[in-house]
Formats: sequence, C-alpha cells, structure tokens
Amino acid sequence: MATVQGRRAFLRWAAVSGGAGLLSSCSRNTGSAAANSVTGGAASSAAATAGGAARTQGGAAAPRPSGSPTPADWTALGHDLSGPLVRPGQAAYTVSKRLFDPRFDSLHPAGVAYCRNPHDVATCLAFVRKFGLPVAARCGGHSYAGWSSTSGLIVDVTPMAGVNVSGSTATVGAGTKLIDFYSGLAARGRAVPGGSCPTVGIAGLTLGGGVGVVSRAYGLTSDNVQSLQIVTADGHIRTCNASTNADLFWACRGGGGGNFGVVTSFTFTTHPAGEIVLFFLSWPWSQAARVISAWQSWAPHAPDALWSNLHLAAAPGGSIPSIQVGGTYLGSLSAASAQLDKLYAAAGSDPSSPFMETTSWLHAMLVEAGCAGLTVNQCHLPTQTPGGQLSRASEYAKSDFFTKPLSSHGIGTLLSGVESFQRVAGAPGASGGIAFDALGGAVNRVAPGATAFVHRDALFQAQYTTTWPVGSAAAAVARQHAWQQSFWQSMRPYASGQAYQNYIDPALTNWRQAYYGANYTRLTQVKAAYDPHRVFRFPQAV
Ligand SMILES: Cc1cc2nc3c(=O)[nH]c(=O)nc-3n(C[C@H](O)[C@H](O)[C@H](O)COP(=O)(O)OP(=O)(O)OC[C@H]3O[C@@H](n4cnc5c(N)ncnc54)[C@H](O)[C@@H]3O)c2cc1C
Repeated sequence: MATVQGRRAFLRWAAVSGGAGLLSSCSRNTGSAAANSVTGGAASSAAATAGGAARTQGGAAAPRPSGSPTPADWTALGHDLSGPLVRPGQAAYTVSKRLFDPRFDSLHPAGVAYCRNPHDVATCLAFVRKFGLPVAARCGGHSYAGWSSTSGLIVDVTPMAGVNVSGSTATVGAGTKLIDFYSGLAARGRAVPGGSCPTVGIAGLTLGGGVGVVSRAYGLTSDNVQSLQIVTADGHIRTCNASTNADLFWACRGGGGGNFGVVTSFTFTTHPAGEIVLFFLSWPWSQAARVISAWQSWAPHAPDALWSNLHLAAAPGGSIPSIQVGGTYLGSLSAASAQLDKLYAAAGSDPSSPFMETTSWLHAMLVEAGCAGLTVNQCHLPTQTPGGQLSRASEYAKSDFFTKPLSSHGIGTLLSGVESFQRVAGAPGASGGIAFDALGGAVNRVAPGATAFVHRDALFQAQYTTTWPVGSAAAAVARQHAWQQSFWQSMRPYASGQAYQNYIDPALTNWRQAYYGANYTRLTQVKAAYDPHRVFRFPQAV
C-alpha cells in the first residue's frame, strides 16, 4: 500500500520514476482500512451537532414528515433506484459508510444510495423530504468535518463519473475523482485547474472553489465552470449557467458543497495540456526566515505561468524542521530557471537540493498527487478501484488567507509555531506544519462578487495541518490538535481573517464572514429560493 503524501500536507524527497522527485498528495500517513477509534468522539459529536442544526436552523416551516421510514419503506426506495442502496447489516455497509478520514468511521448513516443518474438523486430527495430525514451529498468524501456523512441518507454521486471532451469544453460527471478528471482530460490533450489530492471529488472541490497547480494561470476550478446540472431540494433537475438559474449558478461557484442541491455534472472550459515544468527545492532550516521572506515577495507576483507552494514541517521529538518550495511552470526549462534564479537571489542562497524537469501534464498531476511511481489506476483507494494502492489517512486542518506579506515579526511567529511542534508529545510518526499556496494571477482578476468565491485579493493562502498514523493514542492526537489551534491563533495578527470554505473548519465561529464575506447575504437569498425548508443542512450550512 503506498503512503500517500501531501502537496498541501508535507513534502518529502523521494526517488521516483523519472528522476528525483517528490511524493505528494493527500496526507502524510499510511492509513489502514480499520476503523480508527482515536477520534470517534469527534466524529460522533459531528453527527450530534448536525442533528442539532436540523432542529435549530429551521428556516421556513417544513412540511410535516410522515414518521420514520419502516424497513419496507427502505426496501421500496431500493427498488426505485437504479443504483444500489446499502443499509446497515449488509456486507457492503462497512466500506460504503466510510469517508476518506478514518476518524469518521464511527458515523452510521441509515442508508447509502449510489446514484447512477439525476433521477436517482431526485428519488432520494423525495424520500428524505417525506420522512424528514437528514441527507448529505457525497463525492470524494474528503470533507474535513465529516459533513458528507449523516445519520440519515448519504446521496453518493460516484457512479456518475466520467469525462467527455468536446472541442474546448468537457462535461464531467459529478462523481469523478480528481486523478480521473486529469487523466480523462489529458487523454484528449486538455486540462482544467484543480487540486492535487487524487481521491478528492470534483463536486466538493469545485463547489467550494478549487485551488491548485496552474490556478494562477487558469483560475480556480470553479472559475472554469460554464454550466452545471443540479437536483434541488424540490427534486427538480435544473441546468444552471450564466443565463439559466443564474443565481444558483453564481452560488455553486464557491458557495460550498452540500448547500444548494446535489450537482450531477459540470461543463468546464478546458485549456491545452502540453508539457509542464515541475520543480522542488529545499533549504536548510537555518535559511528559513530568508526563504519565506523571498518567497512571499516572489511567488504571488511572478508571471501567471508560475505557480508555487511553500511548506514548513516538523515532527515531534526534536528533529530539525524542513522548508521546501515546489511548483510548476508553463513554459521552457530555461524560462523556469530564470524565474527561480530571482527567488534564489532574494533568498540570498541557492537551494541545497534543487530538482527541475519538464514532463507531460498527466505525469505532473501524478507527481503532485503522490503517485509518481504509480499508474492512474493504482492512484486510487483499493475500495474504490481494484488495483488502487493508496490508503486513507487522518488529518486536522485550518486555513488562512494573507493579503499582506508577513512582517519579520510575523515570520518569527511562523517559525516559532513550526518549531514548537517538535516539543509536542504527539503520536509516533506524526507531523505538523503549514503549507502556503501562491495566489494572484488569474484567481485575483475575478471580482469578489462575480462568483460566490470572495477571496480575490490574497497573496497566498495557508493550511495548518497535523497528521498521525491510524490507531494513534487519543491523548497524543489531542495534544497535536491543541498545538494546531494555538499555532493558528498565534498568526491572527498577520492573516486577513478569511478562511477557505473547502478547508471546512468546525472550530471556526465566524465562518460566515471568513468563508463568504460580503457574498454571504446573497448566498442566503439563493438558499431561501432553492431550499426554503433547509433539506440540506449541516452546522456551517448557508
Ligand atoms: C487530503 C486533502 C487534500 C486536499 N487538497 C486540496 C487541493 O489541492 N485544493 C483544494 O482546493 N482543495 C483541497 N482539499 C479540500 C477539498 O477541496 C474539500 O475537502 C472538498 O470539499 C472535498 O470534496 P469531496 O467531494 O472529496 O468531499 P465530500 O466530503 O464528498 O464533499 C465535501 C462537501 O461537498 C458536498 N458535496 C459532495 N458532493 C456533492 C454534490 N454532488 N453536490 C453538492 N454537494 C456535494 C458534501 O455534502 C460536503 O459538504 C483537500 C482536502 C483533503 C482532505
């Protein structure tokens, strides 16, 4: 089983096919298929909170539900669906109820409906409306809060997967995993910007924005949506684009997954997928302050062709933290080198272990996904695709956007925060750190109100993460979590106060402002128009 590494978690040099490279993608640790008892309490409380939201977020008075569904009602639902319905007690249930993170394995949905088409989705929504059941849409299952699960019915869209390219557009099933998205597009010489983790779902990613390699050149994933199909709470199958259901179309580009309906397909504008330069650089930790200072003045202002991230990471127990810069360049190796020389000059030193290569688009996406030595087929979970070699993993995440460069005091606080993780009595094999993604470029050329994704003035975004091996002691994980909260708290004077809605954070109290800012009021109006009875609800639902 391959250890899945994170572009936005922690970078680690490794020998990969085609040269020295970097295993990266979702998470640092090898997960096991076994349930993780460590954070069962957190998962249970997530479910409990979701139930509470159903009672307190009321909205307009909902039609009175007709009691709990009986076993016969569930059987009838199963007959009405063209895809399978999995219920507790069935052999497939243990795997069907899982999300990506094992800390949510203690959640127990009443049913998981694998929807093969929009009509299946409408049938599920009629069922939950009739019985007043909680419902959650699920695609890749990567919600950091576990909110693609529920005590009621999971509407799983993964059977609606596939990429159909026609000219410069691509229609993509809402259940498509990112690695299949990239591979389906690349087979026709096309690309759409997206995130790095191969098992993240296109639906969750796109609905909350979608930040990743080439976003500075081509925008967010959601900026490339031309049209989408969605089943709203009333069971209607609607097309949304600039001229039809335009308000819903606006909300579905950054308004966050799970809020307005169940999306069944997206149509994207595509871009040519030629060769691309990949680079990975590292410096000794003693140079960290200078490298951070140089990176933040360089990466957000570089030509759009350049995209870059910066990772600082530490492990419990006193080893020296690491600082690494990675990225891509749309152009020649020599032009990429010229850009990197500017970073080295600003940092005052060359990296100790530079790596740069020109490669095919798909190989670059595999490397970013942590699948450099794997085939596309292997770059999946084995429970999702036979032959898949990835494993699930656990992670806590918080986020920030930064609209101003960090002062020297801010850089000092950042370094102290990372270094302090070495003194945390975390789990053996744990990691903690921060990953910055450069913004600017095409992302910031879109007006904050043009789509629901409001964060259009940041230089970079950051993700604070901590990971641990499955089965770690709960107390050690709790200490890591406390470290992360305190690290994030220490950076309050320097961050903008906005947070990325796709790094959904149950601990964020001012989430409306942090995720949506001035767009929140309009989002509530769209919610009232398309889901007046709040069929779709979770603790941070619009
Ligand atoms: C390891 C990891 C790596 C990540 N890397 C990146 C990255 O590189 N770039 C980036 O921008 N983000 C990244 N993310 C964040 C990611 O974009 C979000 O977690 C996203 O919501 C995951 O989507 P999903 O479909 O996999 O998850 P799910 O848990 O299935 O869904 C997330 C939310 O969307 C809802 N939803 C799912 N399907 C639908 C649908 N069809 N219609 C309506 N609502 C739906 C769910 O109900 C839930 O609320 C990463 C997350 C993780 C855990």
